[in-house]
Amino acid sequence: MIRQTIARVNLEAIAANVAALRVLLDEDDGTPGIIGVVKANAYGHGAVAVARTLELAGIEMLACADIEEGIELRQAGITKPILVFGALSLSDLDGIFEFKLTPTVSTPTAALAVEEAGARRNAVIGCHLKIDTGMNRLGFRYDNLDRTMPPLAASRHLRVDAAYTHFACADDPEAQSFEDQRVRFEQALAALDRHGIRPAIRHAANSAATLRDRRTWFEFVRPGLLLYGIVPPPLGSTLPFQPALSLTSRVVAVKGVRPGDGVGYGLRYAPSEPRDIAVVPAGYADGVDTRLANRGFALVRGRRAPIVGSVCMDMIMLDVTGFGVQTGDEVVLIGSQGGEQITAREVAATIGTIPWEVVCKLGSRIARSYEPA
Ligand SMILES: *Cc1c(COP(=O)(O)O)cnc(C)c1O
Repeated sequence: MIRQTIARVNLEAIAANVAALRVLLDEDDGTPGIIGVVKANAYGHGAVAVARTLELAGIEMLACADIEEGIELRQAGITKPILVFGALSLSDLDGIFEFKLTPTVSTPTAALAVEEAGARRNAVIGCHLKIDTGMNRLGFRYDNLDRTMPPLAASRHLRVDAAYTHFACADDPEAQSFEDQRVRFEQALAALDRHGIRPAIRHAANSAATLRDRRTWFEFVRPGLLLYGIVPPPLGSTLPFQPALSLTSRVVAVKGVRPGDGVGYGLRYAPSEPRDIAVVPAGYADGVDTRLANRGFALVRGRRAPIVGSVCMDMIMLDVTGFGVQTGDEVVLIGSQGGEQITAREVAATIGTIPWEVVCKLGSRIARSYEPA
């Protein structure tokens, strides 16, 4: 048995997005490599299938949020280097060794823990050093490195293979902080150099920065969203990035409502004329956002049908008056049908959120179906 509501993930689209990115990155004086970000189950697309696709597409490195995500990839046979973004806790360090993951060192305590773990095993651990250039999340402050780097530079079991930072406002063309952070990262690299820390690899650019400013590319770019074919709003791109994920279901019931009737919880849709309503078995437990109630659309018979009434846990209702809809008809919540398309970007704009959230929220009970299988 398989549920009617399915997320279809087109792995060829992901490979094509890597190729499109390579076209952008191709430079006479050295083309940066790509760190493919597959955290949060590859933005809802399925971490293992996406990581395999990226590996085959020749991507140089993968990145995930925590050690557990990295272990899942290693157990599935992924062999490329895997960078772990998150903060290290002491107990995590065994996983780093056992599964050959690359840790991020973002605090003096973490550096010490890695150094001690390396000493205990008589091994040198290669890691990436995270610099906080203004986001005030993880990382060594860019303006305090003269104090924090000497112990790190003296570590004999910790090797700094890379230094990186992360932009807070790369997707905001108005924000001055983007340029400020870029300059601070350059200053931080100079400070590292003064302390004898000269990593061969530097990286900074998420998808938005990659599109906006080639001075952020360094040796590697670090996109997530673009790999999935979603250009971070409000930016645009002339490159042929294709959305890799579609969310489809089927009509399970069709009924007429009369004037005076209401539809769904709270009877929030109460038409004044007779309407045809289609019931679709996908709700907020599947990741259909409740804010789409009386606001969003789905595609049926190649046309846009409004989502009417509340979004239920397991169902939504569509107004399909005049569409000639029948039970069993395909419904597209994200994706295309006929000449119409609903993108994750559109859904995010409708409900006032970001496309990252729309795809990450797709529920775990939804089967992912991969093409090619
Ligand atoms: C999530 C993440 C990325 C990728 O961001 P996109 O906007 O999806 O390209 C890059 N770097 C870090 C540190 C991240 O956490």
